[in-house]
Amino acid sequence: MFKYGKEMAIGFVPIFILFLQFFVGVNTIPLVLLAVIVGGLLFMAKTRGNLATVGGGSRGKARPPKPLSFDQIGGQDRAKQELVEALDFLIHVDQISKFGIRPLKGILLTGPPGTGKTLLAKAAAHYTDSVYVAASGSEFVEMYVGVGASRIRELFKEARQKAAKQNKESAVIFIDEIDVIGGKRDGGQQREYDQTLNQLLTELDGIHTSDTPRILLIGATNRKEMLDSALLRPGRFDRHIAVDLPDKKGRAHILNIHAQNKPLHSEEVNLDKIAEESFGFSGAQLESVMNEAAIYAMREEGEVINQRHLSMAIDKVMMGERTDREATHEERERVALHELGHAIAAELIRPGSVSQVALLPRGQALGYVRHNPQQDKYLYTKPFLEGQIMIALGGAAAEEMFYGGRSTGSRGDFDQAMSIVRSMVESGLTDLGIIDSSMMTPDKWADVNGRILNELMERVKRMLESNREVFTSALSVLTTEETLSGDRFRSLLGNAVPEEQLLAAQ
Ligand code: ATP
Repeated sequence: MFKYGKEMAIGFVPIFILFLQFFVGVNTIPLVLLAVIVGGLLFMAKTRGNLATVGGGSRGKARPPKPLSFDQIGGQDRAKQELVEALDFLIHVDQISKFGIRPLKGILLTGPPGTGKTLLAKAAAHYTDSVYVAASGSEFVEMYVGVGASRIRELFKEARQKAAKQNKESAVIFIDEIDVIGGKRDGGQQREYDQTLNQLLTELDGIHTSDTPRILLIGATNRKEMLDSALLRPGRFDRHIAVDLPDKKGRAHILNIHAQNKPLHSEEVNLDKIAEESFGFSGAQLESVMNEAAIYAMREEGEVINQRHLSMAIDKVMMGERTDREATHEERERVALHELGHAIAAELIRPGSVSQVALLPRGQALGYVRHNPQQDKYLYTKPFLEGQIMIALGGAAAEEMFYGGRSTGSRGDFDQAMSIVRSMVESGLTDLGIIDSSMMTPDKWADVNGRILNELMERVKRMLESNREVFTSALSVLTTEETLSGDRFRSLLGNAVPEEQLLAAQ
C-alpha cells in the first residue's frame, strides 16, 4: 500500500509550498532553500552509503577475501579451460599488442544458479594476479535516473584505485545478475535501466590494451536471452562460456572438494554413489549435501560422517526438511500404497532404479520415492518418456486399485506427467507428428493430454494389478519401518511381473 509513498511525498511537497506561497501568502523561499540543502546532503550520504556496498563490500571488510584457485572448483572442466584460454590474453599482453589483437574486455558466464560462476570469476582474478571487485546487477537498480549509471562509474573507478593501491596491473570486475542492468532496451519506461546499461557500454568501450590497470569485466547470468544485443556484440562480451550443471564425474569432484575439511567414515562412505544419486544437483546443492550430512553426524554426537548421513542430506536438499505433520492412520496407509505404486512401477519399468521408499512427511509431501538414475541422461526416447509418465501415474493407479478413487496427493504427479506430455509433443514424439505447439488450441492440448495419459494409466494399472500381492506384503513393512532402502524394497518385490512378460502372456 505504501510502495509509492516516497513518490507521493515528493509530488505533494512542491504543491504544498506553492499553496503556501500563492494562496496563504507565506514567504516560502527560505524554506525552499533549506529543503534543497538538506535534500542534497541526504542524497550525497545515500550515494556514498550505497557505493560502499558496490564492490562486494570490499571497503567495509577488514580482511581481504582468500584467493581462490581453479583447483578448488569441481567439475566444469570445459568452462575452466575456455576461461583460462581467454585469461591468457590478459596475461600475455606483449604478444597481444605485437599481433595487434584488441584487448579482451568482457567474458559472460551463463548457467543455472549455484553452478560456480562466482567461483570462476574469483579464480580468474587469482589466476591473472588481478584485484577483484564484485557487484550484483540488483545493486544498480534505483528509482532515480542517473544513480545506477554513477554507480557503474564508481565501480570501474574503484577497480582502478584498488589496483593502483595494491600495485596490480589488472583488475577483474565481476557483475552477477547482469541481466538486471543489461536487459534489452525498449527506449520507453525504463530510462534509468537504459542509462545504467549505456554507462556500462561506455566503460567497456573505454578499455584499451595500453591502459594500466587492464580491466576485465566478467558478467554472470542465467538468462542470456534477456541481454541487450549491444552487450553481446564482439568488442564487449567477447567470450560466452556456459557453466552447466555438473555431470556425475563433476558431482563426485565437487563432493570431494567439500569433503576435504570433514571427517568421513573412510571405509564406509562412497562419494561416487552419492554423486550418482544426486543427478541434477548444482554445485551449491552438493555443498549443502556435505554440510547437512555433517550437521546430522554432529547432532547424533558421532565422530564421523557415515553414508547414511549423506543419504539423509540428499533427501533434505531434494525434498526439504522433515515436518512434524501427524497424518491419521488411514492417510498413512493411503500414502504408503500411493508410494508403493510409484516404487513398484519404477522397479518394473527400470529394474534397480529405486533407491529409497519413505513414509515420512518432508516439505509438502507425506511420503516419497527416491529414484536412482543409473547414468546421466540428456536425450530421451518415446518409450523412456512413456515409462516416466507411468511411474508418475503409479501412485494414483494404486489408490484407484485399493480405494476405487484418487486423492489430492496425485496433483504433483499429474503436473509432472503433463509436462512430459508437453515435451513429447514439442519434440514430435506423439501421433500428432512434428507440430508447432504454440499453434495448438487448448482443446487440442486437452485432447492429446487425455489420450496419452489415459492410455498410460491403463497400462500402469494392468501392471500393478498383476502384482497386487507385492502391495500387501510391502505395506505392513513400510508402515512399520517408515523407510525402505532400494535393496530392501527389491527383496520384498520378489518375483514381480514386468510389463513385457504381461504383454507376452496376453
Ligand atoms: P548464482 O548464479 O546463484 O549467483 P553461482 O553460479 O555464481 O550462483 P557460486 O556462487 O559460484 O554459484 O556457488 C555457490 C556455492 O556453491 C559456492 O560457494 C560453493 O560452495 C558451491 N559450488 C558451486 N559450484 C561449485 C563447484 N563447481 N565446485 C565447488 N563448489 C561449488
